[in-house]
Amino acid sequence: MIFDNLETVIDQYYKKRSSLFTKLIGPRVIDALLFMPFSTIEKVEVKEINNTLLNKIIIINVTIDKINFAKSGPITVLCHLNLTDIEIHFFNYKPIYLKSKFILGRNVKIVGKLTLSKSGRYQMINPTTATFKTKPGIYNIYPLTNGLTQEAIYSVINNAFHVLQNQNLNEWLPLNILEKYNFYSFSSSLRNIHIPNSSNIYRERLCFDELLAEQLTIKINNAQRSHGVKIINNKALPNELIRNLPFDLTNSQIDALNSIYQDMGKDQPMNRLLQGDVGSGKTIIAILAMLYAIDSNFQCALLAPTEMLAQQHFNTLQNLLNNGNEIELLTGSTKKKKNILDNIQNGVIQIIVGTHALFNSKLTFKNLGLVIIDEQHRFGVNQRLFIINKGISPHVLSMTATPIPRTIVMLMHGNIDVSFIRDKPKGRKPIITTSLIIDRLQELVNSISGILNKGEQVYWICPLIEDSDKLDYTCVIERTTFLKQYFPTQVDMLHGKMTSTEKQTVFDKFKNGTIKILVSTTVIEVGIDVPQATVIIIENAERFGLAQLHQLRGRVGRNNLQSYCILLHNKNCSKQRINIMKSTNDGFIIAEHDLKLRGGGEILGIKQSGIKKYKTFNLENYNDQVMASNFLLDASELANTIIKTGTISMYLDLLKIFKPDFSINLTRSF
Ligand code: ADP
Ligand code: MG
Repeated sequence: MIFDNLETVIDQYYKKRSSLFTKLIGPRVIDALLFMPFSTIEKVEVKEINNTLLNKIIIINVTIDKINFAKSGPITVLCHLNLTDIEIHFFNYKPIYLKSKFILGRNVKIVGKLTLSKSGRYQMINPTTATFKTKPGIYNIYPLTNGLTQEAIYSVINNAFHVLQNQNLNEWLPLNILEKYNFYSFSSSLRNIHIPNSSNIYRERLCFDELLAEQLTIKINNAQRSHGVKIINNKALPNELIRNLPFDLTNSQIDALNSIYQDMGKDQPMNRLLQGDVGSGKTIIAILAMLYAIDSNFQCALLAPTEMLAQQHFNTLQNLLNNGNEIELLTGSTKKKKNILDNIQNGVIQIIVGTHALFNSKLTFKNLGLVIIDEQHRFGVNQRLFIINKGISPHVLSMTATPIPRTIVMLMHGNIDVSFIRDKPKGRKPIITTSLIIDRLQELVNSISGILNKGEQVYWICPLIEDSDKLDYTCVIERTTFLKQYFPTQVDMLHGKMTSTEKQTVFDKFKNGTIKILVSTTVIEVGIDVPQATVIIIENAERFGLAQLHQLRGRVGRNNLQSYCILLHNKNCSKQRINIMKSTNDGFIIAEHDLKLRGGGEILGIKQSGIKKYKTFNLENYNDQVMASNFLLDASELANTIIKTGTISMYLDLLKIFKPDFSINLTRSF
């Protein structure tokens, strides 16, 4: 059976290493079949060596001339093929083993990559000795772990094929899908992904299956999940705040808010992602949503990725809600944690704002109704689940400035609704972005007084906090000293090595205008909101990624004054990203450039999410993103049909294959 233990397909020879196989591949036979190769190599058998074979994997029959057992370093075997000498270097091999394999004067067949040594001789490093099984041809390369070889993986997969052959799997995909995409059967697809250089169509089928299995589990889970907390009231609290705001909400903000009210009024817990470019005004939406929940006596948790951001949210809440709502802040540096935890448990605290410190096993709520996760891409899946599980299916609102296509969001987070804030608050002027060579630093410094005289403020971003010989970065400390010559009382610095109290003190001084220039590392990158700061200077801008530059730039342009972003750079650097930043203020366009320049992993926060979630494709790979996105809607629709028509019993094998931990109760209706 393909669901049997992987051990059953591990050859006797490899039995001692069973645990390595299981760790790498998974616990079952089917996991071996779903273990994906990531590239191929060609092995050619040759009778003569020449330069055209360099960097190829070759099989050669050599005659052993000498073995040098050095005291340290590799063991070297000198040998020849016809008239050509070859050096073989073995790193980390036992002399006894090599002595038994490489006997002087004998012929040995070896397989390895042919390269040239520094002195220009042919060499091989750590080749393997060929067995009767070693045949020239094209071979798959699988991910490995220390202690296993490609041959070991081949043997397990080969044995697994025999199991597959004897297993009867009925086709579960409907004809219209099979025909639409030209899919082969599941078994045939499994077999063919292990044939080197086979068409991608086989993996596509498996990708569709995996997405279908996931959609099924999500939908069954949703249907079975205990009902959420239905929140319906006349919005008195949020409406009162809206009346007192110094600005009107934008249309996008109103739309998003209405969707949130609607979601929270349903039985099913809300799972909504609020996407809006930096400075588009997501925080106020979160606050209004929390007021709505509080109005019905539910507690709220607001999660932020940094202490500074949590503190800022806490301050904003305290300023806006002066009618006696109980709000508390819980971060790593909070004193009297126990007191706060008690008051969350007994329901006195209505809103708890916090960082990772909220991931505390002692945290319990009296009646958690709404969880808000700001800058959600900064949190891992398990962290999000931890806080969500603190309530009985609370509503969840996640917020991000990263513009992710909806299908990718669904691939990352399962079922989720998305609201976009498309328009910026009224009267905002586009930020003017310029670049400036570092040689002109003095001119820049001279122009700063003009800005300070207007009562506006400046962020000055440096990449590193200490002098480093290796990296030609300007450090925060050095730059602060330099700027203090010109603005003795108006400059201070902020960096990651300061304690959180120190950081907060400096930041408060900047926020209330006591200091005018804040020299900082990227600790201020996310979320920070100081509207009277209108200039951000970024040193060594060429070293930053696009996503980071855009986030940093988003620290200015937060009121109706003209804001500026000045990208300082070295003389001879690539200005590719700097030019993109100059060409647009639109986060979506920047994200697209970033995707093309770096692939899909970083900007989308897929790397941060820290999970290799899928077996048959890799979300960090742009082509795989496209493939999975193409299938997602059909898979989702098919899952709906399956549940509606009650044909789930046809899909039990599929679920078992891709979702082994999922159990369903067939006697229940969904
Ligand atoms: P982000 O979406 O990046 O989290 P914030 O929520 O920090 O943005 O909002 C940026 C600034 O814009 C804040 O100072 C906020 O008070 C202000 N703001 C939010 N909505 C509006 C609006 N509709 N009109 C004017 N200013 C607004
Ligand atoms: Mg924000």
